Amino acid sequence: MSSKYIALPKGVSEKSFDAAIKEYRAVLGEANVFTDSEHLASYSKIMIPDITENHTPSAAICPASVEEVQACVAICNKYKVPVWPISTGRNLGYGSAAPCSRGQVVMDLRRMNKIIEVDAELGTALVEPGVTFQQLYDYLQEHKIPLWLSCPAPSAIAGPLGNAVDRGVGYTPYGEHFMFSCGMEVVMPTGEVLKTGMGSLPNSNTAQVFKWGYGPYLDGIFTQSNYGIVTKMGFWLMPAPPAFKPYVIRYPEETDIVDIVETLRPLRMAMIIPNAVVIVHALWELGSFLKRSEHYPGTGTIPDSVVKDLVKKHKVGMWNVYCGLYGSPEQNEVNWNIIQNVVKASGKGELLTAEQVGDDPVFKYRADLMQGKMNTAEFGLYNWRGGGGSAWFAPVSQARGSETLKQMDMAKRILGKYGFDYVSEFIVGWRDMHHIVDLLYDRTDPAQLEAARACFDELLTEFSKAGYGTYRVNTAFMDKVADTYGPVKREINRKIKRALDPNGIIAPGKSGIWN
Ligand code: ADP
Repeated sequence: MSSKYIALPKGVSEKSFDAAIKEYRAVLGEANVFTDSEHLASYSKIMIPDITENHTPSAAICPASVEEVQACVAICNKYKVPVWPISTGRNLGYGSAAPCSRGQVVMDLRRMNKIIEVDAELGTALVEPGVTFQQLYDYLQEHKIPLWLSCPAPSAIAGPLGNAVDRGVGYTPYGEHFMFSCGMEVVMPTGEVLKTGMGSLPNSNTAQVFKWGYGPYLDGIFTQSNYGIVTKMGFWLMPAPPAFKPYVIRYPEETDIVDIVETLRPLRMAMIIPNAVVIVHALWELGSFLKRSEHYPGTGTIPDSVVKDLVKKHKVGMWNVYCGLYGSPEQNEVNWNIIQNVVKASGKGELLTAEQVGDDPVFKYRADLMQGKMNTAEFGLYNWRGGGGSAWFAPVSQARGSETLKQMDMAKRILGKYGFDYVSEFIVGWRDMHHIVDLLYDRTDPAQLEAARACFDELLTEFSKAGYGTYRVNTAFMDKVADTYGPVKREINRKIKRALDPNGIIAPGKSGIWN
């Protein structure tokens, strides 16, 4: 049935939607409600291997305050219109700003972009959803506050709140972003405003310093979920260390991943290496600044021999481990000696400091990330294959050499079957590793899009069969991943959803949670 809307919410008549739009406009003003395809284009573009039409929004609404969010939620309930909240709405390779199913209204919180408070002494920040990493970074610089952020790779344009509620990670000692968050304000599906932790106690000044509050700890249920719209979030920021010493350890063989992990894990667990170390595969390292077609004209997976030649030519490792030392010069010196000795004793790896590496843009980019400095260098990866297709495959592994090798072999085999390259990095947590593979493909080629979809599906099937769960997934595969965690977890998620959001208006389908 034709409609003046590019997509109607499921089960909502055009007449009802007209009425809802009229009410959103009355609350937000004409300029902050969009239904035309031109304005909705930026909320419809996806990089993931799925049909764009499956994610077409019905409208976009842009509230500027908590009260406006509440008023919009009331309208959504009245007309049973589903609403998909986004903060800075980047989420590239996970679904971008588009909803997980067709016809949802995108609630773009970009106008709520206040840095409410930064406490320089306690090292805390309280921000709204639209605050970008760049904005917070600039604020700290302008006010000469000696605190560091932790940001993900495409950081300048993304934001701490959206990234943390989707449980993204960064590269500093505070790289597990949700772990370093403290206190949330949430507009519930009923319109009530919940402050988590200590925030719900009137006159409390501990909301950003003590995470647990009293009774059940609720913050977790508002991450990767659809139980509420987070309108404020607190973060701990790291005191700028007196000295920072970034370094890289380069390894020549793919199978070296075993020794790398075995060598580094004890240092990481003992916090001699304090940051979320990244172990970058050559194709990620090279793919950030090379074009595949200029080095390999073939169609299938790039052969290992070609990758080896590129590694030699560009003097990178097959694996490149980026770490940092953070502390006083004396502390760093002690830890540097330990690291040098451990690497030497392992008999493998070339350990290089910034001075030894010299003027290398890739090292600089990694050194920046490890001190929470903004950049967008990672976008270079999208030129490796070209065509704008990217889907992150993100299984979790134990921080054990044998496990990482097994995961690498599985990923390479499955990607190879479909003609895709193994472009990956491992981000080392305390005892886990996030194995991040960028499935890069040409979205303008329907055959490649279909191959990428089938490949991603097989990756999920095979990895979960082997017991490897994914920690985050794009909006086309949320149901599939939810299933891999079993029926009990899925049903409990659903029971909570029904209890909190009886009309099922907030982000139906997010993380596989439906009413
Ligand atoms: P970023 O731009 O940092 O990548 P997004 O704003 O795209 O982050 O948010 C990532 C995902 O997190 C969104 O797709 C959405 O599902 C969820 N999300 C973002 N902001 C909120 C919020 N304020 N409340 C609830 N969920 C949110």
